[in-house]
Amino acid sequence: MSYPASQLTDQQFGMLRVLRRVGYDKASRRTTWECVCTCGNHITVTSHSLTSKRRGRQSCGCIQVGGIRPLAQIKKALLDQ
Ligand SMILES: [Zn+2]
Repeated sequence: MSYPASQLTDQQFGMLRVLRRVGYDKASRRTTWECVCTCGNHITVTSHSLTSKRRGRQSCGCIQVGGIRPLAQIKKALLDQ
């Protein structure tokens, strides 16, 4: 079914490192996690978002095609990898 809490903590998914389990999203029936992006932003995502390769959200959103974030921020994020 879903991942045990200990299985995602401290793991790196793309640009996101999982900090801790936050809770459970009843709507999507997924465990939610607090993650820190390499750019420094903290976001909460579901386990599905992290582990799904195709639909995964493996950054806070700072790196996207046609992204609106400043280039310097993206460059910094890449350097931190
Ligand atoms: Zn980011």
